[in-house]
Amino acid sequence: TKRRVGIVFGGKSGEHEVSLKSARAVMNALDPAKYTVVPIGISRNGQWLSGGDPLLALEQQADQKMLGRAPQAGLVSETAIVQSAGSLPEHTNMAALDVIIPVLHGPFGEDGTIQGVFELANLPYVGCGVLAASVGMDKGLMKSAFAAAGLPQVPWQLVLRRDWQQQPEAVYERLEAILHYPMFVKPANLGSSVGISKVSNRAELAAGIAEAAGYDRRIVIEQGINAREIEVAILGNDDPAPSVPGEVLPANDFYDYADKYLEGQTQFAIPAELEAATSEQLRAMAVTAFKAIDGAGLARVDFFVERETGAIYINEINTFPGFTAMSQYPKLWEATGVSYSELLDRLIDLAIERYHERG
Ligand code: ATP
Ligand code: MG
Ligand code: MG
Ligand code: MG
Repeated sequence: TKRRVGIVFGGKSGEHEVSLKSARAVMNALDPAKYTVVPIGISRNGQWLSGGDPLLALEQQADQKMLGRAPQAGLVSETAIVQSAGSLPEHTNMAALDVIIPVLHGPFGEDGTIQGVFELANLPYVGCGVLAASVGMDKGLMKSAFAAAGLPQVPWQLVLRRDWQQQPEAVYERLEAILHYPMFVKPANLGSSVGISKVSNRAELAAGIAEAAGYDRRIVIEQGINAREIEVAILGNDDPAPSVPGEVLPANDFYDYADKYLEGQTQFAIPAELEAATSEQLRAMAVTAFKAIDGAGLARVDFFVERETGAIYINEINTFPGFTAMSQYPKLWEATGVSYSELLDRLIDLAIERYHERG
């Protein structure tokens, strides 16, 4: 019998459009002989959309440039969307699903909140559980978990928005005493480089913190380094497998939002050109990072390899990385011998396996 697969997309985060792109690719790739797809949209203001074609409805509202196509005429109005929307419990088709794929990036999707909803609804879902998703989303907690697992990281500091608002000069002095310029300023809970700045002096530091503080009450400041960027994809539950490493070759000063989604000039080298020992070390570290947050299903682990010294630092883990056919996660697996549609089959099996094992 065919499995009924719910695909959840959109959402309230700054990565709404990225999610629509990922969801479109997932829906195109699921084998109709094996799966019945049930699309479930979440609008920008958090409304759950049922019936009709919620993906098309959200795509028509989305920033067309971000979806990589020309502006469309005849956009669906916000009222039409809201009228077709319901809250989660009204979703009668939810209970009949065999598995859910939350193709969501960023807060309210990749951060454990929606995973908690599926736990309460007693539904198997693809990817990390509540704990791994929330630790993986918060760059402060993530770094603490990596440090406890002995993974090397660049020096970093956590700043509360409140402390910065009350005593900005004291915050700058603390940061400058521990880190040197350039620094990277990041909202603790986000992705796709949204709200991230590279800063080279105190004025830029102040502006960077103000920018990040617009997204989060917790801000991470890191030592900036000159490094190659290497990524490893992980697939599995308690016995996770690493892909071959790939290298990101950003076109801009760093791998920023425009480079990721608007300009698309970034090149990927898969597999990355690395010595065999370095490659093995990165793959082992990616598995360690996945286990450090108690990951499940999938994740993409991002590393820095410092140009001058060759030193390896872990940058971050993404528990639901970009999932279009062009995204690194599927490309890394393709280069490792797992095709895009096979990847979806495996992730669905892993979700059901985890559901049965968790009790
Ligand atoms: P995503 O989830 O899309 O991978 P993100 O928003 O979680 O991204 P990061 O991966 O932490 O953000 O950083 C985005 C980019 O900024 C990196 O890919 C890299 O180009 C640059 N960068 C971040 N931190 C540093 C650092 N400490 N030194 C040098 N470059 C950095
Ligand atoms: Mg990230
Ligand atoms: Mg991310
Ligand atoms: Mg990253």
